[in-house]
Amino acid sequence: MTEVTDVVVVGAGLAGLVAATEIADAGKRVVVVDQEGEQSLGGQAFWSFGGLFLVDSPEQRRLGIKDSYDLALQDWMGTAGFDRDDDHWPKRWAEAYVAFAAGDKRDWLRAMGHRIFPVVGWAERGGYDAMGHGNSVPRFHVTWGTGPGLVEPFERRAREAQRKGRLTFKFRHRVDTLMMTNGAVEGVSGAVLEPDSIERGKSSSRKVIGDFTLRAQAVIVASGGIGGNHDLVRQNWPTRLGAPPRFMISGVPEHVDGRMIGITEAAGARLINRDRMWHYVEGIQNWNPIWPRHGIRILPGPSSMWFDATGKRLPAPLFPGSDTLGQLQYIMSTGYDYSWFILTQSIIKKEFALSGSEQNPDLTGKSWRMTIKRATNKGAPAPVEAFKQNGADFIVRNDLLELVSAMNALAGNDLLKHDHIKAQIEARDREISNPYVKDAQVMNLHNARRYIGDKLIRTAKPHRILDPEHGPLIAVKLNILTRKTLGGFETDLDSRVFGTDRQIITGLYAAGEAAGFGGGGVHGYRSLEGTFLGGCLFSGRNAGRAAAKAVR
Ligand SMILES: Cc1cc2nc3c(=O)[nH]c(=O)nc-3n(C[C@H](O)[C@H](O)[C@H](O)COP(=O)(O)OP(=O)(O)OC[C@H]3O[C@@H](n4cnc5c(N)ncnc54)[C@H](O)[C@@H]3O)c2cc1C
Repeated sequence: MTEVTDVVVVGAGLAGLVAATEIADAGKRVVVVDQEGEQSLGGQAFWSFGGLFLVDSPEQRRLGIKDSYDLALQDWMGTAGFDRDDDHWPKRWAEAYVAFAAGDKRDWLRAMGHRIFPVVGWAERGGYDAMGHGNSVPRFHVTWGTGPGLVEPFERRAREAQRKGRLTFKFRHRVDTLMMTNGAVEGVSGAVLEPDSIERGKSSSRKVIGDFTLRAQAVIVASGGIGGNHDLVRQNWPTRLGAPPRFMISGVPEHVDGRMIGITEAAGARLINRDRMWHYVEGIQNWNPIWPRHGIRILPGPSSMWFDATGKRLPAPLFPGSDTLGQLQYIMSTGYDYSWFILTQSIIKKEFALSGSEQNPDLTGKSWRMTIKRATNKGAPAPVEAFKQNGADFIVRNDLLELVSAMNALAGNDLLKHDHIKAQIEARDREISNPYVKDAQVMNLHNARRYIGDKLIRTAKPHRILDPEHGPLIAVKLNILTRKTLGGFETDLDSRVFGTDRQIITGLYAAGEAAGFGGGGVHGYRSLEGTFLGGCLFSGRNAGRAAAKAVR
């Protein structure tokens, strides 16, 4: 049976929810289709840390941070490194997005009940010059309630629209084709999948029990990226990053399968910047996995010493939390796809945060009592301790010789030499007694602790790594963890998709990760972090508003 509506949104993740609620609020009818069940509403955003890039916010001002649109745009451009003809629309999106982050983003969310944890995080700190990569100041605003706290207002609005009869959800509906007539999109068709009550995030059945067709004047593709599909990640892996890693873990559920990207491309949409991706280098295998190959990213503070697989310290400024892409490039140039942190109990306690809503029950559960313990507790947060005890990548020893020998045993080789590691740690430790030093990482520690937020909850007091008072010693084997797709469908600022002939395809829109978070790659090569959820909000909003205006 064919149904007719005004707009179809493919994907009930954050971008799809934002677009759909804007359409319904504009008085138009919208159908949201998703291949997953209702229990997965919100897609990846539910699992996220809920970190948002905001510029010159009241939270920043309260902490004494002086930020501005100009400073943020300078950072964005230095980070993105736009360098191709295809960057025309991504660059325009970047300017508009930074204006959104410095403008009405916070107030728009706040009016829907969204709230922010008061200590602003400092991600991607760079370490080059003022025009280079990185955030000059802390800008990572964690949602109070993490990912679920960000999805909640949009789900509420969607349920309200559902009650009013303007919005319909069709779960377990997988789009297989974009229907086109004379170059214009006129709907979607696909398979109805069998009902499956499997837990959110786990892989659901793909058994087909029927088919469906939906006709509409506009279709918004908000189907996410490719991070759950390692074959696609490897196919798109750019030569500038060496050979694709042999071993990778997944930072996203399996439904982030990239399939709809191929379907949209087959309908004539122009996919750009497919070689740009944002994978993390501090991935650890989840001892309690939800989805296949489930990995968690450590959001590291600045103190851990970082060594490559051969035991050589990563060069400046590739310190924890400085430059994800630079680190990935360096690690892949070693010929190995993993690296090591060596740290102390004092460092793990204060500096390890794990990205993901389920790894932060204090913030996700909006518990002040639990959250305050981050600053006052003797040990690390419980989820971090659980990884330390159960995680396949963690080694804890009192003695460096034993630690290095266990690291070699875990890697299954003898690449690490105790004397070599010891000499590098001792050299760094000699730099600790003075606040003015030449070791760039130690300088960074002193710089970080001048920011009150870092001093309170993110940066351990500088100490010698080999000081037994701060022990035991901890080594963590770090894997490459797939996450974000930075390229996507080329769109104008209304999220309208261009075809391969460079003309707008009538009726086709793209938002969220499928659109490279705006325009086909608003980030260029790198991200300042907290910019993905925000990219879904902004591109989803633009797509929804523009589609609602366009339909009769
Ligand atoms: C653990 C984790 C932590 C993160 N932390 C942060 C953070 O702190 N800050 C930040 O900015 N970003 C973060 N992110 C990234 C961010 O959450 C995602 O980039 C964003 O949520 C993507 O949203 P989306 O709507 O574009 O896609 P998705 O959430 O992937 O939703 C797409 C939906 O489309 C559906 N779909 C796909 N193909 C089809 C088809 N053919 N037919 C029907 N349905 C289909 C899928 O089932 C899915 O539900 C994090 C991500 C994860 C996983």
